Amino acid sequence: MIDDLLEFLGACPTPFHVVDRAAAALRDAGFTEMDEAVEWPDAAGSRFVHRSGSLVAWRHQTCDAGFRIIGAHTDSPNLRIAPRPDAGSSGYRQLGVEVYGSPLLNSWLDRDLGVAGRLATPSGAKLFCIDRPMLRVPQLAIHLDREVNQKGLLLNPQIHLTPVWGLGPSTVGEFAEAAAESAGLGADEVLGWDAMLHDLTPPTIGGIDGEFIHAARIDNLVSCWAGLEALLGAPADSHPSAVLCLFDHEEVGSTSAQGAGSILLPTVLERIAGSRAALHPALARSLCVSADGAHATHPNYPERHKPDHPIALDGGPVIKRNANQRYATDAAGEAAFVAACGKAGVAHQVYSHRNDMPCGSTIGPFTSAATGVTTVDAGVAQLSMHSAREMCGARDPLDFALALRAFLSAAA
Ligand code: ZN
Repeated sequence: MIDDLLEFLGACPTPFHVVDRAAAALRDAGFTEMDEAVEWPDAAGSRFVHRSGSLVAWRHQTCDAGFRIIGAHTDSPNLRIAPRPDAGSSGYRQLGVEVYGSPLLNSWLDRDLGVAGRLATPSGAKLFCIDRPMLRVPQLAIHLDREVNQKGLLLNPQIHLTPVWGLGPSTVGEFAEAAAESAGLGADEVLGWDAMLHDLTPPTIGGIDGEFIHAARIDNLVSCWAGLEALLGAPADSHPSAVLCLFDHEEVGSTSAQGAGSILLPTVLERIAGSRAALHPALARSLCVSADGAHATHPNYPERHKPDHPIALDGGPVIKRNANQRYATDAAGEAAFVAACGKAGVAHQVYSHRNDMPCGSTIGPFTSAATGVTTVDAGVAQLSMHSAREMCGARDPLDFALALRAFLSAAA
C-alpha cells in the first residue's frame, strides 16, 4: 500500500495529473464519469465529475443520512512557466517562471527539474510530462556570497529563480516546441499552457528503520491519496452518501472557477441530491473532513511550536483547531473525527498554532462557509511544508486513510 502512495506522489507532478490519475482509478473501480455540460436525470450510484484541476466523486443512493464529505487539494507551491518564457542572459538559454503559492524558494535551487502540465490544442487539452533534468536553478557560489551562512539566503523571485536549460541564444517558441514534442504534437498545435516545474528525485522511504517518507507534494497529495483510498473502499450503497472533492488552487486562496471557494461543490451536491429542496435537509445532516497536512514539531526549532501541543510524525492523524477560523474545526467536527479514529483503531493528535505567529489555512473554511456543513480540519503531520522536498511518517498516511474510511461509513 505504501508503494502505491509513493507511486502516486511521483506520478502526479501537477493538479491535472492528479485528476487524470484519480479519474483512472475511479473508472477502474466502476465509477461512471458525468458530463457537467448536460443534465443529470439521475446521479445515484458511483460517479465522478472533473473540472480542470479539480474532481468530485461520490457513492450515493439516497439523501436520508446526508453526505460524508472528504476534501483535499491537488495543487502544491512551485515554479510555473511564464506565458512568454523564452529568455536568456550571459550566454545561457533560460525560461521565465512565475512563483505559484508560497514555496520555500531555496528548496528549488540546485535540483534536477522536469516540467509538466497541460497544453491547449485545437482539439482540446493534452497532458504532458518531461521527466528528464532539463532545467536547473543554480545557486550562487559561496565565494560570491560570503555572508550567506551568517545572514541567510535572500532570493528575489523575479531575478534569482530563472532556470537555465541550455547554452547559446534563446529562440522564441523553444519552450512550446519542447512541450509539444513531448506530447507528440506539432509546435503550431500548442495554443497555450499551464506548465510547472517538478523535482525529479523520486519519492522514497527514509530513516534508519524506514520510518519516514521523503517526497515532493506530500502537502497535499497524501490527503488526495488517502481520500481516494477511503472512497474506493466505501460500499457502493454508502449510507450516508460518500463524497470526495479534490480542489485546485488552495495554495493561492481557493478563489477560481474550480477552487474550494467556487460553486463547484454546492452545485455538484445539489445535482446529486436531485433538487435544492432535497439538498438543504441533506446538508444539515452532513459532515466534512478538510484533509490537509499538519505541522509536526520540528526537533531543531521546538520554540516555533505551542509547547503544550506537540505533534509527532507517525503519531496518528492530526486534528487542527484555530479559534480564528483559519481551520474550520469546531467541537462537533472534532468529536466526529475522534470517533472515526477510534473506530479505525488509530491514534490522533490535536494541533494549535502559536498565538504570536500567523496561522496557515486550508479548504475547510471555504467549503464549510459554502455548504454550512460541520467540518473538521485534519491531516498527516509533516516537516518541511512547502519545500520542494517534504517529509512525513511512513505509517501516518495509511492510518489517515483508515480513519477517513471509518469517517465515511459512520452512521449520521
Ligand atoms: Zn496543504
